[in-house]
Amino acid sequence: MSKIKENLDRIEERISVCCDKASRRRDQIRLVAVTKTAGIEQIKELYDLGYRVFGENRLDHLEAVAAEMDNYAAEDSPVQWEMIGHIQRNKAKRILPIVSSVHSLDSLRLAKEIEKNAGLLGRGFDVFIQVNSSGEPQKYGAEPEAVSELAGKITDQCPSIRLVGLMTMAPFTDDVAVIAECFRRTRWIYEDVKKSGNITKDFNRLSMGMTNDYEIAIAEGATDLRIGSAIFK
Ligand SMILES: *Cc1c(COP(=O)(O)O)cnc(C)c1O
Repeated sequence: MSKIKENLDRIEERISVCCDKASRRRDQIRLVAVTKTAGIEQIKELYDLGYRVFGENRLDHLEAVAAEMDNYAAEDSPVQWEMIGHIQRNKAKRILPIVSSVHSLDSLRLAKEIEKNAGLLGRGFDVFIQVNSSGEPQKYGAEPEAVSELAGKITDQCPSIRLVGLMTMAPFTDDVAVIAECFRRTRWIYEDVKKSGNITKDFNRLSMGMTNDYEIAIAEGATDLRIGSAIFK
């Protein structure tokens, strides 16, 4: 069996165990395969194994592999690319035609840029607001206190953006309590935003959990896991 298949079997097994423990269903959780460190042959293998939802955070790599996968994929079963990394506004018009969703919205300015491009492309985008839940100054993301207002403005001013939830990244640490705290805080913010009524019924997802912490994220309510190294190592 191939290494990638072996890795994915192990990940799927662990996701199932975590779902059981948290009394959640596996079909409530999406695995976004993060391909940023993967070569094109590895990405094709992932495709052949049936995976279709891929995450990228670098424009150059996204453009290169998306073009190759366009040729490779069956016409009726294309890859769905999702932007998970910070978007510089001047790169938005190259990134957005390739992706169907953005996990890393952190400002109204970027929301307006997405709205503008949605107009040009004639389609909408699924978007998560990224929250800086750890308070680390070097982390991207909206400040927790600002999320509800940002959600309201996007809902009012950006009709092509379907606000689907929140995204966060925990700090890189072995301290499970610190990681769990970030995910829990994000979930509280998410509940607050829901209560605020500043959103539509599409707002029901939490993008959190990577290779080192996806098991904790599932326990804390994640619906979208962004996993890279554990698949391609
Ligand atoms: C790289 C990256 C991931 C995946 O990280 P792994 O540790 O390789 O699983 C998830 N989310 C974002 C925003 C990333 O940049």
